[in-house]
Formats: sequence, structure tokens, C-alpha cells
Amino acid sequence: MKIHEYQGKEILRNFGVPVPRGIPAFTVQEAVEAAQKLGGPVWVVKAQIHAGGRGKGGGVKVAKTIDDVKKLAGEILGMQLKTHQTGPEGQKVRRLYIEDGADIKNELYVSLVTDRATQKVAFIASSEGGMDIEEVAHATPEKIITEYIDPLTGITAEQSKKIAAAIGLTGASVDQAVDLFAKLYKCYMDTDASLVEINPLNCDSKGKLTALDAKFNFDANALFRHPEIVAYRDLDEEDPAEVEASKFDLAYISLDGNIGCLVNGAGLAMATMDTIKLFGAEPANFLDVGGGATPEKVTEAFKIMLKNDKVKAILVNIFGGIMKCDTIATGVITACKAVNLSVPLVVRMKGTNEELGKKMLAESGLPIISADSMAEAAQKVVAAVKG
Ligand code: ADP
Ligand code: MG
Repeated sequence: MKIHEYQGKEILRNFGVPVPRGIPAFTVQEAVEAAQKLGGPVWVVKAQIHAGGRGKGGGVKVAKTIDDVKKLAGEILGMQLKTHQTGPEGQKVRRLYIEDGADIKNELYVSLVTDRATQKVAFIASSEGGMDIEEVAHATPEKIITEYIDPLTGITAEQSKKIAAAIGLTGASVDQAVDLFAKLYKCYMDTDASLVEINPLNCDSKGKLTALDAKFNFDANALFRHPEIVAYRDLDEEDPAEVEASKFDLAYISLDGNIGCLVNGAGLAMATMDTIKLFGAEPANFLDVGGGATPEKVTEAFKIMLKNDKVKAILVNIFGGIMKCDTIATGVITACKAVNLSVPLVVRMKGTNEELGKKMLAESGLPIISADSMAEAAQKVVAAVKG
């Protein structure tokens, strides 16, 4: 799960990580009031969307007067902000953050991310923070350093000093970094984050460190123990199909292709997508209906897939283990009738009550194309979209 920058900064503040003063605003009027409250003399008007690269896209602007704040807030609020992370259609700006303008001297980069290979938290840092970290990683990877943190000790002062030196900090800034990095690590662990990125971490002309940006991702499987983080959820920033699917407890991810996939089990769903690609087409979604799919759930899954007008055919691939094939057959038949299915449907099912399930589909009178193996199913569905 992702959150907005101003929410991330609220969390950082709670963990004692220094951030500028700021106030979120949902209207131009609120932006003006926020600026008056902060008092200036310099403000930054920042678009709040769940994507980075806002600065380059024109979503972060400096204001020197209240009138400037008003004008910029009017321009940014409601704009379709396009960044390298939003895709070409961009993302509509519905919230702003009005923040004290910082005295920027050195823009540094720090982030924490869970590294599966070492099973540790990786602390990544660079002296070259700001808006082009992807370019730094590409062109001068030696300017990015990584420290792996032992979960038993947490980040040590030695490690923090090593990182601080590597990103060019000296004097009192080093002591501040040791304190700040420890707080950041605690914040990462305590919130069950899977990513915390501060880019830029500003080192001002007095050597003081402040987080000017905050990006958080959280492990969705741990959200049950963080109602305070779930409360930050902004459905406007999420894919409507994915939001709808989550209401029915369906694991659904929108993709760019034109073959809708309905599968039980995440592993089989991945393999199904691979097989479609192998035969030269692209899946329109990942969808795992889970082990306990009822006919109602399958119907909802069909509705969600068919809302995507790119979908030109559907592949149902079921392994009947706990799930019985006849249950799925009932679901598929009910769903086809409920949604008036108008695209070709290929069904492949194996396992418990397979014969019964197949018989039900055959006798349903629906134009279902059946397949026996995964390869055959994929070939048939690919032929349906290409033919
Ligand atoms: P993004 O990463 O989405 O572009 P940032 O929050 O990092 O958004 O802002 C982009 C740039 O704007 C920063 O690299 C920094 O130079 C500048 N900036 C951001 N916040 C402030 C602030 N409070 N004061 C001064 N400059 C800022
Ligand atoms: Mg940034």
C-alpha cells in the first residue's frame, strides 16, 4: 500500500525524523489559509499523488508571496500530472501540501528496502539526491552505497557513520545522521514498511539534515496490525478495478494485454500469464479467485474483467484441489448468463469433479471453448484474440 508524501511526513515526524512544517490542502482557499498559518517567507506548493517525479512534471513549485501560493495552487490542483511513474495519461491532482521552503544546499538520497537475497533491510544512500536518482543509478552506480542491516542489532552507529561519510557528511551533520538513520530504521521496522525513501534529504547551509520528500510502501499482509496506516488509504489513487476486486477478496492486478485470466492460486495464475505470453499474446490482468471461490465471487470476477474494454477473450484455468471443478462450472455458467458474455471464453479445468464440471459446461448451451492442457488452452485463447 502507498500513501501520500504529507502522510509519510506525519509518520516521520512521529518517529522524530526532522521534516519541514507543512499543511495539506484540498482547495485553493485551504492552500492560502495554510500559507498564512505557516507565515513564509517562502512556501513550496506540492502536488500530492502516489507517484514520484512530481518536481520534473511541474507538480512542485516555490512561492514567495501568498498571491503566488494562490496562483500556483489554482494551477496545480486539478491538473493531470504526468511523471515517469504515472504513465502517459497522468494522474489527477486532488490534494496539495503547502510546506515551508527549505534552504537547500546539498540534496542527498537515503532509502530502506527489504532485500530478499540477504533477508535483511538494505540501507541505500547517495550524495547525488534530488530528482535524478534513476540516472545516477544508471550512469554512476558507484555513487550509490548499500549497507545491509543485521535484524538482531539494528542499524549500528558504525554503519551510520560509514554511510554518512560515504555521502559526504562531516562534523555535526554526522552525529545528526547517526540519530536520524536510527530513527528511520525504527520507523521502517515498526510500520512494517517495504520501502521508505527520502529523496532529497537536505543538508542545509548550517549542516542540518531535513527530509524534504517521503515515499512509503507498506507490506499489505501486515496492514491488519496498522489501522492508523490503513486510514491513510486514498482510493482515488488506486486502480478502480483493483479496489472493486478487493471488496470481494479477489487478488486482482490490472495489466495491459487483452486476455482476461481467471485462475485459482497465485502460482497457477502466474504460470497462466506466462503461457499466454509464450504463445504470443498478453494477459489483461492477474486474477486469483482463491481456494474458496463461490459462484457469486466468480460472477464478480467476470464483471470486473469485462469492465476493461481491452478484454477480447477470457481464459479460465482451474485446478480443482480444495476447489471443486463443478463449483467453478456453476460459477462460470452463472457468470456468463449474468454478464451476457460477448467475448470468446476458453475453460480448462483439472482435478476434483473434473468430469462433472466439464459435463455441466458442455450441457449449458453456452459457447464455451474447452481445453485439456494449459498449452492447448493458451493456444486457443490466443487464436481467439488474434483471429
Ligand atoms: P518528487 O520527488 O516527486 O519530484 P520532491 O518532494 O522530491 O518531489 O520535490 C522535488 C524537488 O523540489 C526536490 O528535489 C527539491 O529540490 C524541491 N523541494 C521539495 N520540497 C521542498 C521544500 N520544502 N523546500 C525547498 N525545495 C523543496
Ligand atoms: Mg523526491
